[in-house]
Amino acid sequence: MTDPVFNQIAIVGAGLIGASIARAAVAYGAAGSVSLYDASETVRSRAAAIGLGDVADDLGAAVADADCVLLCVPVGALEPVAAEAVPKMKAGAILTDVGSVKVQAASALAAAADGRVHIVPGHPIAGTEQSGPEAGFATLFRNAWHILTPLAEQGEGYAEAVSRLEAFWTRLGATVETMDAARHDRVLAITSHLPHLIAFNIVATAFDMETVEEGEVVKYSAGGFRDFTRIAASDPVMWRDVFLNNKDAVLECLGRFSEDLAALQRAIRWGDGETLFNEFTRARSIRKAIIDAGQDSGAVNFGRNLPKGDKDESA
Ligand code: NAP
Repeated sequence: MTDPVFNQIAIVGAGLIGASIARAAVAYGAAGSVSLYDASETVRSRAAAIGLGDVADDLGAAVADADCVLLCVPVGALEPVAAEAVPKMKAGAILTDVGSVKVQAASALAAAADGRVHIVPGHPIAGTEQSGPEAGFATLFRNAWHILTPLAEQGEGYAEAVSRLEAFWTRLGATVETMDAARHDRVLAITSHLPHLIAFNIVATAFDMETVEEGEVVKYSAGGFRDFTRIAASDPVMWRDVFLNNKDAVLECLGRFSEDLAALQRAIRWGDGETLFNEFTRARSIRKAIIDAGQDSGAVNFGRNLPKGDKDESA
């Protein structure tokens, strides 16, 4: 068996991402041991009950002996958590995070820097709409991207720290890319943040209509709507923090989106079938490109459990 990348890692925030890292680090031998801390006492006891690692009752005890500390808390909590963690960490250890917004994460982590630890922000492009320690699973990061956004002009040993962190995520099954933080935030604004905003909004609109239509919206939700409901079931704290901290990039995308939506609205109003057909054809080809790139499965997904004994004819 290959040596672990880190003798010990510490995970702060034992939710979906923290728990998945804990499981994957053990399953793929990326860490010799895993210590965990979560601000919530309930989460700590749930994490201990499912055997996620050595759960500590205070953050200092969790991070003290770790070679790498991974902050897996909502983006808005990064600054105070980093400020508390850094003075208790070993000299030469790595501090990273998994936050979905990187410019703000870089400044939150860098604000805590004391020159003794290496700060390397990161973001796994993997997740589900579930939260909490029980939602974590070891294969979450397999064949997914992991983006590192190293800080500029760092001292001795920094390049080696970045390489070790890259080796850790590679061991978990991810493909690691290095990117400028601002570029990360612009790309993720369109690929992740705006789609979530649209999902939250369409579900809210439908919820209002539900009252008017007396139950018909939920009853017939098998159409495109159900895919939006899955995305809109994501954690409200996490997403509140994403929008508050990636404001400029999201507003820029939203402006473009609104213009394109207005063009479709106009085409519908004036019976311009050619515009509608051309736009939908272009969208379909993008879906095909995503499947061809291995970023989604082209398998039929009609979102229902079949009654026992019924055969799925698509299989
Ligand atoms: P989650 O399941 O809600 O877990 C977050 C955990 O952090 C919760 O247990 C929370 O406790 C705890 N926490 C909050 N504030 C804390 C603090 N000050 N100190 C210690 N623990 C604290 O959320 P998640 O989905 O794992 O997301 C965690 C991070 O990963 C976020 O920054 C998010 O942007 C990023 N991310 C998420 C996804 C995704 O798909 N979910 C994908 C990539 C990256 P309470 O519940 O008691 O507040």
